[in-house]
Amino acid sequence: MPPIMEYLKESPPDTDSRWNELMELAIMQARQAGKNGEIPVGAILLDSEGRIIGKGYNQSISRHDPSAHAEVIAIQQGCQNKANYRLLGSTLIVTLEPCIMCLGAIIHARIATVVYGANDPKTGCLASRMNGANIPWANHSFEVVSGISAARCGSLLSDFFQQRRQQKRQKKQPSNRP
Ligand SMILES: [Zn+2]
Repeated sequence: MPPIMEYLKESPPDTDSRWNELMELAIMQARQAGKNGEIPVGAILLDSEGRIIGKGYNQSISRHDPSAHAEVIAIQQGCQNKANYRLLGSTLIVTLEPCIMCLGAIIHARIATVVYGANDPKTGCLASRMNGANIPWANHSFEVVSGISAARCGSLLSDFFQQRRQQKRQKKQPSNRP
């Protein structure tokens, strides 16, 4: 496990500029997923003191594990670093609106704030499909900050899918056919 990384606390944690700065780190994680041919989603996890305790990027295909989403990996790492299954006061920064599985992990880990970039209109569970942060019957609710560097986070995904479609088309129509 990587050591807990100190994060420079120069700007107050509630400003957009700090979120943008942290989102850049999540975007770097997402790029790593894209390089590996995985859907480019990345996440960073901060403890209640603002220190980075977890990082993750999508690895479902390479790990043969449908649960290996960026958020779950960052949460697992954070829990190992803190030697605790609950991360009270923590903040998850993720490039894409979390899915229903990651919402479950966020609730179980008792994460206090989720900051995300792009909306996921198909399967996003914090705004697009449901208000997962405030489920009346759930035993935990949390704060949501959305739309941080949304255009950059979204274009990572749209560029990835566009490239993949192009590759598929090229496979179907080999240009060296006699
Ligand atoms: Zn997910």
